[in-house]
Amino acid sequence: MSFLSKKYSSMEAYTPGEQPRDKKYIKLNTNESPYPASPKALEAINANEVKDLRLYPDPTCSELRESIAKRYGVEKENVFVSNGSDDILNFFFLGFCDEEKTAVFPDITYGFYPVYCNLYGVKYREIPLRDDFSVGVEDYLDVKANVVIANPNAPTGKTISLDDIKRILESNRDYACLIDEAYVDFGTESATKLVGEYDNLLVVSTFSKSRSLAGGRLGFAIASREIIEGLEKIKYSTNPYSINRLTLLAGKAAIEDEEYFEECRQKIIETREYTTRELEKRGFKVIPSKANFVFAKLDSIDGGSLYLKLKEKGILVRHFKKERIKDYLRITIGKREEMEKLIETIDILAQEPMLLGEETI
Ligand SMILES: *Cc1c(COP(=O)(O)O)cnc(C)c1O
Repeated sequence: MSFLSKKYSSMEAYTPGEQPRDKKYIKLNTNESPYPASPKALEAINANEVKDLRLYPDPTCSELRESIAKRYGVEKENVFVSNGSDDILNFFFLGFCDEEKTAVFPDITYGFYPVYCNLYGVKYREIPLRDDFSVGVEDYLDVKANVVIANPNAPTGKTISLDDIKRILESNRDYACLIDEAYVDFGTESATKLVGEYDNLLVVSTFSKSRSLAGGRLGFAIASREIIEGLEKIKYSTNPYSINRLTLLAGKAAIEDEEYFEECRQKIIETREYTTRELEKRGFKVIPSKANFVFAKLDSIDGGSLYLKLKEKGILVRHFKKERIKDYLRITIGKREEMEKLIETIDILAQEPMLLGEETI
């Protein structure tokens, strides 16, 4: 007997990266920040604020939106905040797409997009990435559909330029174009500066990666007033108090702490370059990444086996079973020591006969 309604019974849910509790791993599998939240966020959450959890939070999230607006040089009316950027993606597919307003996105990208489409019965088309895993901008011109592109893309770490985004926006004026900037702070120009020019642009971002608040669940969107009002409408029709009081405070403190943000961001970029070099020295093919992860493969072993070998040694990375990328691993950039340990472990595995192919025997 299934109590779930019939229309959802065959639906496939999104599978988040594992969060195992069985032992302590070096966790390089869900693109969290290895650095703690801003010390200012810690200060903002004190005993009195915990006591005030008896009260509902501000549904308009006014102060937080004010701070985000200031940081990005837009008006508060151009900012929407929600319970993680997944929540905003959810609202987008629910409220902005349907059978007629279909969606297009790359075949290799954030795995949640097709899940939302299936949940809401939104028709979608997956556009194959080019052979080098880049997004071919020509494929998105005049598509007569809402466009969703992660920039940098996940799990490849590859980017498209603002000029390319402009071309897509211009050729699809009557459709919304969502740019998912979860990883933008690790080395790409943000499309938020185009929001004033294009009312069909929706930039979605998160505090989960570059601002070390994945557990706080906080995402934001920057877009034209029209699009923001649309998102508000959906939010007020589902869960107006979707961001809790403590997260509102932590988020505001984090977005105002530019210095700490910059320090963490730089360290991750440096460590990413170190990791790329060391993996390449060991024969890995590493896709040049502008995110807080690298996407890499070794010809002599399939991705699934290497993932398991690393897991046995206490290092968790992410492996995807999709045909085109099944030989790759997505490795989150952790602290320098963690990445040194990863490299050391790869060297140990390479000494085990037959493990990483002939060149190691
Ligand atoms: C991590 C990630 C998200 C989700 O972020 P949350 O704010 O934690 O919900 C959205 N899009 C992409 C591409 C991501 O990698």
